[in-house]
Amino acid sequence: MSSISLNGIAKSYGGDLKVIHDLSLDVRDGEFLVLVGPSGCGKSTLLRMIAGLEDISGGTLLIGDRKVNNVDPKDRDIAMVFQSYALYPHMSVYDNIAFPLRMAGLAREADARVREVAALLQLTPLLERKPANLSGGQRQRVAMGRAMVRKPAVFLMDEPLSNLDAKLRVQMRAEVTRLQKDQGVTTVYVTHDQVEAMTMGDRVAVLKGGHLQQVDTPQALYSRPANAFVATFIGSPA
Ligand code: ADP
Ligand code: MG
Repeated sequence: MSSISLNGIAKSYGGDLKVIHDLSLDVRDGEFLVLVGPSGCGKSTLLRMIAGLEDISGGTLLIGDRKVNNVDPKDRDIAMVFQSYALYPHMSVYDNIAFPLRMAGLAREADARVREVAALLQLTPLLERKPANLSGGQRQRVAMGRAMVRKPAVFLMDEPLSNLDAKLRVQMRAEVTRLQKDQGVTTVYVTHDQVEAMTMGDRVAVLKGGHLQQVDTPQALYSRPANAFVATFIGSPA
């Protein structure tokens, strides 16, 4: 478990195209923080900077007490799940989940951990199946299992449910938050869906055009939106 601190974070692509502006935000230890905003507002860019997949143009990024601006992604103790996830089609569910442990030379510890993660994700009866024989929701759970099997300090998710049909998406919201609470892993979850944000987040950070508008609990965002954009976006009556 670890907290994340963004202090004056900025991002520009090339010279003039500034997509994140002087953004400061603390994600608390063990918190489920949702980053929400319209398409193109910079959510993925911000998440990719936390993951180390994108250079930071300005400001300081801390994970725990450690400044990680220039730390390699693989040394950040982070796992990331994307909207489009690729499982290894020729491998069973078991082997897909075990893969990161084997790559890290942890094959000896793997079996117990794979079974623990599978149980958490309700995949135990499916361990021998191949991805082709799973539903969309089951595949997404395998992708999450693979991401969390190494017990990351930080879990980053970029619209992980948006490829699922509506019914499954609603069902998976509860599963993802339950899983996060069980494991207690500090999580930043990106979505453009305000209902998803308001139902899943311990706190919700609202982003518009690369500017952070407000960070608060769903209840407080709803009853005390900081401005008209936040009020309209989350559908509060204010
Ligand atoms: P979101 O995830 O909120 O939809 P993004 O972070 O993907 O938004 O994009 C934010 C802005 O940055 C958009 O205007 C997008 O066009 C731009 N952008 C994203 N990636 C690049 C890139 N590699 N080069 C140039 N511009 C980019
Ligand atoms: Mg995005």
